[in-house]
Amino acid sequence: MGKKRKRIIIAIDGPAGAGKSSVASEVARELGYSHLDTGSMYRGATYFLLKNNIPMGNENDVLTELKKMKMDMADNKILINNEDITSFLRTKEVERHVSWVSSLPGVRKILVQKQREIAREGGFVLDGRDIGTQVCPDAELKIFLSASPEIRVKRRYLQLKGNVELDFIRKDLKRRDEYDKNRKAGPLKPAEDAIFLDTSHLTRKQVVEKIVRWAWEVIEN
Ligand code: C5P
Repeated sequence: MGKKRKRIIIAIDGPAGAGKSSVASEVARELGYSHLDTGSMYRGATYFLLKNNIPMGNENDVLTELKKMKMDMADNKILINNEDITSFLRTKEVERHVSWVSSLPGVRKILVQKQREIAREGGFVLDGRDIGTQVCPDAELKIFLSASPEIRVKRRYLQLKGNVELDFIRKDLKRRDEYDKNRKAGPLKPAEDAIFLDTSHLTRKQVVEKIVRWAWEVIEN
């Protein structure tokens, strides 16, 4: 019997709208791996707080409420306390508050621990902001995806199927990027050993092909 192939961890980080989630999901499919979209977890926690009318502004209240939250991921769906809340993750309300929620060290501690547990066995593609630096600093392959601001706005507009105005998206991406870069806990920044990939002039297919090629180089070495 041949040697069992190692199943690596691939970390994909980058700013909002760089195409991380769709690229990560396709890379995972090509390799027969699982995909974890960590942004959905921060969105899910934010939705849960909004639904339970927890005022945004007090970290203690937020953490007390999050103790009542059971979050499960299955087939790219998010279940909170056994309810599928996936369709609520991209609403304007969630978009408006997610940066603040995800800047709280206590929230990050809970979710980072969960992300590490999920990906423990390898064979995972994780996308987010701090995967290569905090969640999986030992990931065998780290990619930092970026694209010009206008292209990121257009991609997010298409992803939301025109349901949210361009101007809202433009302001929202700028605000979230600033917040994510400047927060103390798990800021958005490339790991020192990440490969930087500007996707502005690449199709999704081209980006996926490059990452899959790099992944095979790592797996087979
Ligand atoms: O990737 P996505 O846009 O869905 O992420 C939503 C928000 O969740 C980001 O703006 C960021 O504030 C937060 N996030 C984070 N760390 C991650 C993934 C997402 O802080 N690993």
